[in-house]
Amino acid sequence: MTNELPPRRPTSTRARSLSVTGAVVAVLAVGSLLIWHSQLGNLLDLNSAADKQPVVAGSGASGRTPPMETSATLPPTAAPTKPPKPKPTKKPSPGPTKPTKTTGPAYDEESDLGLTSKLRSRLRKATAAAKADGITISITSGRRSVAKQNALLKAAIVRYGSYREAIRWVLPPEKSAHVKGKAVDIGPRPAMAWLEKNGWRYGLCRRYDNEPWHFEALTSPGGRCPALQVSGAGPAEAG
Ligand SMILES: [Zn+2]
Repeated sequence: MTNELPPRRPTSTRARSLSVTGAVVAVLAVGSLLIWHSQLGNLLDLNSAADKQPVVAGSGASGRTPPMETSATLPPTAAPTKPPKPKPTKKPSPGPTKPTKTTGPAYDEESDLGLTSKLRSRLRKATAAAKADGITISITSGRRSVAKQNALLKAAIVRYGSYREAIRWVLPPEKSAHVKGKAVDIGPRPAMAWLEKNGWRYGLCRRYDNEPWHFEALTSPGGRCPALQVSGAGPAEAG
């Protein structure tokens, strides 16, 4: 018995294993046939399969599972969140806010409001003193926006024929003292002459030989103005 039992077990297990492997082989064979058949089918009508797949996948993914998952959590949250949603009336508001951002500075270029406090106070004192002498100092160009300075430079390039020649008269924004509020152009001619003669008393100096209208706070009141520069295109550009 003890000798017979061991051999029987292997036979039974062998039979089982054989039957199992046979079944597996059969399944694999059938499966491979099915796969091969489906592959043939895919090869034969790729177009129809391609057309069908998106529809089936889309309806199955979005239609079946999301509602099941969200339906449990949505009822409490979806109901309160739906009422506030119909407030898309805010869209018109971004429209008017954009123009306000792009609009230039609030000050007028022909006023002294955009100038630095030092230049503004000095110019006001000088203007009052000139008025006492019968001379009216008018601001033709004080602080300029970057956009305005760029526009002036473009116009100067057209007028003078080249960038190199244009920057003798109009500097790019990053180099212009006007954009920083540190320069002022004045007029008319008598006012230019008066300020060139008396500006030093208020710390105001003409800067460029080619621009008799351009003044900056280049010295302390009562001090000595530096020598004129040929133009703003020099090494110490600021005009
Ligand atoms: Zn100037």
